[in-house]
Amino acid sequence: MRLLLLAPPGAGKGTQGERLAARLAVRHIAAGDLLRAEVRAGTPRGDQIAEYQARGDLVPDQIVFDVLTPAVVEAAAHGGYILDGFPRTLPQATRAAEIGVQLDVTLDATVYLYAPEAVLTQRLLARASQEGRADDTAGVIRHRLEVFAETTEPLVAYYRKRGILVAVDADQPPESVTAQIQVRLSELTPPRNGLRRSRLCARIRRWAWMIPRSPS
Ligand code: ADP
Repeated sequence: MRLLLLAPPGAGKGTQGERLAARLAVRHIAAGDLLRAEVRAGTPRGDQIAEYQARGDLVPDQIVFDVLTPAVVEAAAHGGYILDGFPRTLPQATRAAEIGVQLDVTLDATVYLYAPEAVLTQRLLARASQEGRADDTAGVIRHRLEVFAETTEPLVAYYRKRGILVAVDADQPPESVTAQIQVRLSELTPPRNGLRRSRLCARIRRWAWMIPRSPS
């Protein structure tokens, strides 16, 4: 199973990524975490990354591909992945799709999590007091939300056009969001690559019973 999580800061990509990866027994690869690990390692590349992250700007594509590609290729060889926070730009998405075709590890689905901006900001400010992330200050949060709207949000249309997008309201408790993702994934219509899609649906049905449905 190979899934992308596409969401603005604060929508809960990390939380949902962990939950889905545990249920599907695939790896959770968080782009921001891998980039922060590089910063902690104190390499020259890490120093560059730190500057972009502190401002809330996107890290240059070449650095992102250098850091992420080995982890994604390895996970793909071991049953798949939930990839959160990548791709974040159209050039990243098209290059990732090319690599996916070359290695025969194309995507099963992209999950788009959305929530009102006030909710996102409030969650990030609450997290700031718990985790102390350098980019969780009011000004940098505002900038990260702008970067998402301008640069990353166009990917919603890109994946919708490819027929693999499911959109889920992230302004609900985490377990309801997970349940909703499960429902929406199982509803993905089986188009041209019907065989792959029907395998995806079968896998989702196998773990669906573990997730409580949200009260309607
Ligand atoms: P959030 O989505 O809350 O901003 P992340 O941990 O996903 O948190 O990302 C934090 C920062 O890491 C981003 O603001 C950006 O600087 C960098 N980053 C993460 N993913 C990417 C990416 N795919 N391309 C470029 N920069 C990225």
